[in-house]
Amino acid sequence: MVNRADVIVVGGGLAGLCCALRLQQERIPFALLEASDGVGGRVRTDRVEGFLLDRGFQVLLTAYPEAQRVLDYQRLDLRYFYPGARVRFGGKFHQVADPWRHPLDGLRGVFSPVGTIGDKMKVGRLRRKTMEGSVEELFRRRETTTLEALRESGFSDKIIDRFFRPFLGGVFFDRELGISSRMFEFGFRMFSSGETALPGAGMGAIPTQIASRLPSESLRLNSRVESIQNQSVILSSGEKVTASALVLATEGPETARLLGEEKLPGSRSTTCLYFAADEPPLGKPLLILNGEGEGPVNSVTVPSLAAPAYAPEGGALIAVTIIGLPSLRDDQLTESVRNQLAGWFGPTVSAWRHLRTYRIRHALPLQIPPLPDPTAPVRPVRPGLYVCGEYGNPASLQWAMFSGRNAAEAVIEFLKA
Ligand SMILES: Cc1cc2nc3c(=O)[nH]c(=O)nc-3n(C[C@H](O)[C@H](O)[C@H](O)COP(=O)(O)OP(=O)(O)OC[C@H]3O[C@@H](n4cnc5c(N)ncnc54)[C@H](O)[C@@H]3O)c2cc1C
Repeated sequence: MVNRADVIVVGGGLAGLCCALRLQQERIPFALLEASDGVGGRVRTDRVEGFLLDRGFQVLLTAYPEAQRVLDYQRLDLRYFYPGARVRFGGKFHQVADPWRHPLDGLRGVFSPVGTIGDKMKVGRLRRKTMEGSVEELFRRRETTTLEALRESGFSDKIIDRFFRPFLGGVFFDRELGISSRMFEFGFRMFSSGETALPGAGMGAIPTQIASRLPSESLRLNSRVESIQNQSVILSSGEKVTASALVLATEGPETARLLGEEKLPGSRSTTCLYFAADEPPLGKPLLILNGEGEGPVNSVTVPSLAAPAYAPEGGALIAVTIIGLPSLRDDQLTESVRNQLAGWFGPTVSAWRHLRTYRIRHALPLQIPPLPDPTAPVRPVRPGLYVCGEYGNPASLQWAMFSGRNAAEAVIEFLKA
């Protein structure tokens, strides 16, 4: 068993894996210590009765620069969502053709209940603004909350309440739109310049692909780090592992705990329910948004329409996203979701079979302004101790992956000095 390495990476999510990958490219010996029984952190997929259940519905935006750099998209067998959404409002579904490129195409002009003709022009303007300059520059622009930014851009309350709140609410788990305008603009740029995808074998294929490039003897699962002491970590088992450099790649609140901080950063939570059905409630792989703002459901989609392996032959997988952690028990919550969706899709919903509910207390950090610049070089907390992941960075697959490499670059410099 390794109890001495040049570098210890704590946490085997995308940040830790990408840090390890960069160290591996420099042939620097490392030990990656992961508390759970597999790599991937928040990006893992469970197989349940032949269905692929991501631990909370999520997607890969193919425009993420770091994902393009690191991942082999072809081997991930990416499957794509239709670039559109349907908004449930006033007892009906309203098609939003392509929210990031042509949001109101397909709606009946000024009489649309989702937005106004002015909103359509404003989306065009916002799109141009978010596409200008580099991603780095985007994170140095003036910052406010997303709600403020939308209001400053002149969007109507109608489109904010009926489209932006459920759409961005589902992305950032924040219907109040208090998240940094920089994250919103970054997200807007990513959505409008690439595809929204799922790997054919589930989101968990992303970390698995990265881990497959690492030496298996350097990955230690079921190895929870209890504390750090100088250049060593103490595992729950009591074992001590020592290195020249440590990198913490854990969730923000856990990183704060390991650093001995008294005040832990806040979390945004989400709950995801999966159902099995004989027939999908939609014809196309797109997102259905709750534009009414009532009831537990924020959005619904059918991942198996995009990536057929998410359901066994002849079945459909339905993913329901709720923002926050409802206080209802699982059976009560399932009933309440079923009742709401029966109003949307009709009595067929009563035949859906509930597969599993994931309640994710720490799904994302708060990401309120001021947001740190994720592209800035990583500075050590103290000599030899580095942090990556969302502690001091925005979240998302892009920034988790980038932050891992960025921290590894700093460690490589430190070891050379
Ligand atoms: C439901 C949901 C939907 C999302 N949707 C999207 C999306 O569509 N697109 C997008 O870009 N992003 C999305 N995200 C965000 C994205 O998944 C995360 O930002 C990213 O995966 C975080 O990676 P990470 O490596 O920083 O952290 P994590 O994935 O949390 O990895 C941290 C790892 O550290 C381990 N660990 C913790 N404590 C210890 C310890 N003491 N010792 C050892 N190991 C420890 C954990 O077990 C875990 O494996 C979503 C997140 C959730 C939860």
